[in-house]
Amino acid sequence: MLRDILRYFPYEDPREGQIEIAARTYETLVRGETLAIEAPNGIGKTSAVLSGALLASERSGRRILYLTRTHSQTDRVVEEVEKISKKAEVVYAPIRGMASLCPFNTGLFREGIFCSFIVKKRICNYTKSVDEVGDVRPLFTEKVISEALKRGQCPYAFSIRLAKDSTLIIANYIYVFDMFYYNYLFEKIRLEKPFLIIDEAHNVSDRILDFLRARARIDRLYDILSRYSSDTGFNGIIRLLDEVCESNSKIVSGEILKFVSKDETIKLREFLDKMFEKPEEADFMDNSFMDAVKFLRKLEIARENAGNIVFCREGKADLLMEPILPRNLYGKVLGDKFSGIVMISGTFGGKEALSTELGIDLDYMEINPRREEELSVFIAEGITTSYRKREKELYKAIAEVISEIPSTVEGNIGIFFPSYQFMERVYEEVRSMDKPVFLESREKTARENREMIENFKKMADAGGAVLFGVLGGRNSEGEDFIGKEMSSAIVVGLPYRKPNDLMRLRASKINEKSPGMGYKVVFTLPAVRMAVQAAARSTRGHRKKVTVVFADDRYKRSDVIEFLPSWIKERISYVKWGDLPGVFKRIWET
Ligand code: SF4
Repeated sequence: MLRDILRYFPYEDPREGQIEIAARTYETLVRGETLAIEAPNGIGKTSAVLSGALLASERSGRRILYLTRTHSQTDRVVEEVEKISKKAEVVYAPIRGMASLCPFNTGLFREGIFCSFIVKKRICNYTKSVDEVGDVRPLFTEKVISEALKRGQCPYAFSIRLAKDSTLIIANYIYVFDMFYYNYLFEKIRLEKPFLIIDEAHNVSDRILDFLRARARIDRLYDILSRYSSDTGFNGIIRLLDEVCESNSKIVSGEILKFVSKDETIKLREFLDKMFEKPEEADFMDNSFMDAVKFLRKLEIARENAGNIVFCREGKADLLMEPILPRNLYGKVLGDKFSGIVMISGTFGGKEALSTELGIDLDYMEINPRREEELSVFIAEGITTSYRKREKELYKAIAEVISEIPSTVEGNIGIFFPSYQFMERVYEEVRSMDKPVFLESREKTARENREMIENFKKMADAGGAVLFGVLGGRNSEGEDFIGKEMSSAIVVGLPYRKPNDLMRLRASKINEKSPGMGYKVVFTLPAVRMAVQAAARSTRGHRKKVTVVFADDRYKRSDVIEFLPSWIKERISYVKWGDLPGVFKRIWET
């Protein structure tokens, strides 16, 4: 098998772990099983998984759906496929959501309702038919868009056309985890039980919950049921809304879906679909209207999962429908639709945690290759960002120490905080920093943030800079910093989310099946994943040294260490928070 895998392997010399990943991927897919691969950033997971999957596809005739979260991740996969194509032919296509491919930014919801509206009004002229696409490569997202527009064709239709003939389709998450896109790709390009690869899959349980999760304004829900349908009588659904609104509990069990009959949900679906036939008569351009439509549309499947659903009021205006655990939805969203599944991430947190979280059995492999650089990992003691300790003195103490560190490091450094508010409070206390600071902000548009990150990266060879970012924010996951673009990372705090009733309910449900795992899976695991994701921004690309710090006493706890990947666990040293500048100096001076 090794020789066959190497036919699809793009490099002369595989790195440690890559052939193992490719072989396990191949075996998992041909056997129709599920595998999670945890491996650090930068070891070449993508090319390894692709070579195993392409061989499995060649031998089984099945196509491959490769899911990525962001544009840059899609383009990274395209880059690898192009390298493979120099050795073996690979017919592939990237496909993003309609909203990101369409120059008018239309979203796809029930067969592209905005799109047909815009086309009908002759606002869009990219309507030339896409029978032939010819040889267009490499297929980076921007290239697909510009090539299609140049030909007077719709970029979305162009992508779909490419995908029809492709063995490998690189799509974004929505095509599997969004109920309104869910069957679209399968029908449009006739995908039949393909193999599935999920990149950056550590949040897959949350994405599965997204499938049924819905939020809408209560007045809009009533509005649709009454204003648009006065004579169709959705009494069961109206009763459900009344019950939730009148309840004194913060969380109402999904058992109240018993008021809604199957016939009623089918009638509701038909009624909503009809509305889309005359978009000009409804408020489709209003987000609150669309949220309410989506909420109602999800009731049909929610009804079949009533025992796993809750309804919660959010403030006075909003109603939230939440599935409790992914385990009952796993089959519908993933298990039944794909013939074999491989999930990849640097931060799953171990087999027990992941399989408890998803509620399924799976194979697990952790790859921990030797590193070429000198990687130091510290847990800094004597500091905690626990909510109870957040006072001015804490922000000041953090600011004093981090101000001294950037000048000791070659290139850029990233410092990540548990929230925007926390980051801003520390920033206010920083008196001087001898490298320029780039501050992440919620106010920045995606384009502005991108520009900021590009400018930050350019500083790597121009004296270095500091990025202040937020754990779980826009720059701590998915963004690649190569080599000196981030030579070191300091993770300030362990970003536990504030507990709420829903999280407590989830934890207790998990405890029923897996005693003692509830709190860990619901509270600790996501916090550790966010921290490791941020720290791992600094470990891509070769250079001599990397220093990673986790600053919070809580990182010493065994239930936290348990979820850390081996490349971190086996290198941990302890240091006092105040001694950190001296430690950095010693490491980077030698
Ligand atoms: S046809 Fe394509 S380019 Fe035109 S509005 Fe629809 S999605 Fe956008």
